[in-house]
Amino acid sequence: MERIWRGSSINKNKEMVDRLQSHGVIRSQKVAEVMETIDRALFVPADTPPYVDNPMQIGYNVTISAPHMHAMCLELLENHLKPGMHALDVGSGTGYLTACFAIMVEQQGRAVGVEHIPELVESSTRNIQRSAAAELLKEGPLSVHVGDGRLGWPDFAPYDAIHVGAASPEIPPALVEQLKPGGRLVIPVGNIFQDLQVVDKNMDGSLSVRSETSVRYVPLTSREAQLRGY
Ligand code: SAH
Repeated sequence: MERIWRGSSINKNKEMVDRLQSHGVIRSQKVAEVMETIDRALFVPADTPPYVDNPMQIGYNVTISAPHMHAMCLELLENHLKPGMHALDVGSGTGYLTACFAIMVEQQGRAVGVEHIPELVESSTRNIQRSAAAELLKEGPLSVHVGDGRLGWPDFAPYDAIHVGAASPEIPPALVEQLKPGGRLVIPVGNIFQDLQVVDKNMDGSLSVRSETSVRYVPLTSREAQLRGY
């Protein structure tokens, strides 16, 4: 999906959410609420306009996804982010979506971020600490870890929801393994041209896969490849 608005005319988190609602990207009240609760401004670098509908550089050759992509992924995963459920955010970057997941699954659930750049894990922890999800981080239902997200995070598997924030040439088998029957994985698949794929694990363990839309994400790759610029 192309950006929905241009430039930095929007300067409040609530206005950004209203705009995503009026364009039909946010349809669910729950997604609107969580995006109002977690202020995007706390997750972008200090010199970056927070509410522009573009991906923004966050260092280490990667970007925070555009607001409309965050909204779309939350919409796709909403039914798998109910209170008490387990959610995994692979390539958690700024921690924005991990924080949204934690608010949705609540105290009795589990939201786990995995990111392979240790500095981003540290800065995302600071971002979350300033946000409405700070208590969940402090008390344990929300955690962010350094690791290769292609391997998932087995400690809290199986997951009801898995989101991958970087594009993979294929669906990593470990993520399918760690998906609960009835669970949903949302992942950009491809190299330069990518599809946002929605993978549902049926109760018999079989998979139903469909493409939601064409997207452009940074690659899900090794730390070395990313730091040398791919
Ligand atoms: N969804 C996040 C970040 C998107 S950028 C946000 O909006 O803030 C994709 C992230 O995936 C980057 O932070 C990058 O460092 C990370 N990444 C890429 N390959 C990875 C891998 N193999 N394991 C873990 N993280 C990875």
